Amino acid sequence: MGYEAVIGLEIHLELNCMTKMFCNCPNLPGDEPNLNTCPICLWFPGAIPQFSHETLEKAVITSLALNCEIQKESAFDQKVYYYPDLPKGFQLSQAHRPLARHGWLDIIGMDGRTRRLRIRHVHMEEDVAKLVHETEGRTPISLVDFNRAGVPLVEIVTEPDMRSPHDAMEFIRALRMQIRYAGSADCSMEAGTMRVDANISIRPEASEVMNTKVEVKNMNSIRHLGDAIAYEMQRQEACVRNGEAIVLHTRLWDPDRRMTTPMRGKFEGPCVPDPSVPAIRLSEEWISEMKSRLPEMPGEKVERFINQYGLSRDEAVMMSSERDLSEYFESVVKENIAPRLASHWVATQLLPLIRERQQNIAESPVTPARLAALLSMLAGEEINTSSAKIVLTQLFERKDSPEAIVQMSGFSQVSDKDELDRLVDRVMADNPSAVEDFRNGQAKALGFLIGRAMQASQGKANPKMIREILTKKLG
Ligand SMILES: [Zn+2]
Repeated sequence: MGYEAVIGLEIHLELNCMTKMFCNCPNLPGDEPNLNTCPICLWFPGAIPQFSHETLEKAVITSLALNCEIQKESAFDQKVYYYPDLPKGFQLSQAHRPLARHGWLDIIGMDGRTRRLRIRHVHMEEDVAKLVHETEGRTPISLVDFNRAGVPLVEIVTEPDMRSPHDAMEFIRALRMQIRYAGSADCSMEAGTMRVDANISIRPEASEVMNTKVEVKNMNSIRHLGDAIAYEMQRQEACVRNGEAIVLHTRLWDPDRRMTTPMRGKFEGPCVPDPSVPAIRLSEEWISEMKSRLPEMPGEKVERFINQYGLSRDEAVMMSSERDLSEYFESVVKENIAPRLASHWVATQLLPLIRERQQNIAESPVTPARLAALLSMLAGEEINTSSAKIVLTQLFERKDSPEAIVQMSGFSQVSDKDELDRLVDRVMADNPSAVEDFRNGQAKALGFLIGRAMQASQGKANPKMIREILTKKLG
């Protein structure tokens, strides 16, 4: 009997708001410990939380980017539990009346077909403080940093629609792309601004039962998420085959040992309505205004790039994969560069160089205008492709314009007909056997002769003209 996995995700995202969720302290959790605090976010008794409008806007934008229905009424609850990083004894969250419901994202499944994965709801939540474990001499000590206390979060809860590590990883990639486009959160698993927990159970293939799930935490990259799910599927299948029961609990992914290890029994504290923050009531008009603030999202952009610029679907998907990249591409095209030439050079030449240098395309020294100047010389046959590639790498190191670099380095392409005529005559005279071969029907000898001519010109000859002249002379 084969088994399949049933996987649902819970994703915590730090919203990139200026302030915390219920006070005016800066939302900078990485600052010097306990710098960004006040009586509200130190959770002193009697301090009244003031709900930030920016949190609401960014949480709504995030939910809209995930195709959710914004609820006209939502409210905060107190999720009651005590832990040293939550000394007030409860966390403000939205357990009963979340901000948004019924979202979805499309992914490409392992079979190449589009699959729609549902999002059950999105709710707002304040982050807890951070525990730091150290030693003082030989004494282990634990410190609490309240910079993170009250940082605005949304939690995204999916339906258990995923069946494989592939599904979960693609879902997170799609989610990250949507939300980075919307601009409301940074979504970095590595930096901890996106934390993903996976609920995993297994069942016999083609069955509809929902078996006991295990929660896995502590994955800090998309790859770890996939590895942890794959490990957990195998572990649970081995348990079931051995006749052991799966017990509801939480496990941690250990990236060094590449396995999950048990952490604790799963504890869900009670949730009671919070009396201090008023219920949130949103009008239809306000929700429409938020919708109008969403930028063009990747799905629409792909279709527009295909229709407006004649890109292939793969090229359009590539150029739309990040908002900065799509804006860069369009700026190059606006300088009168053929869109497919621009897309090809950005994808195959520029991006690898940017990645090598660990730069960000928006801050690259190769601005859209400079790349466009280079590509326009290439398109106008003033330089050839191999020279253009060299000039491109130099644009990273030098402030000179592409035109100046071409001139100073002598990369200007030779397109003078008489000069090329003489060059071809010389190459034919030096390679009589290749000429002979071609005339005896060996077409590939032409490529050899073109190569020789390019070499003789130190790469500066116009390859198109060389081919024409050679073909003519060879008869
Ligand atoms: Zn504060």
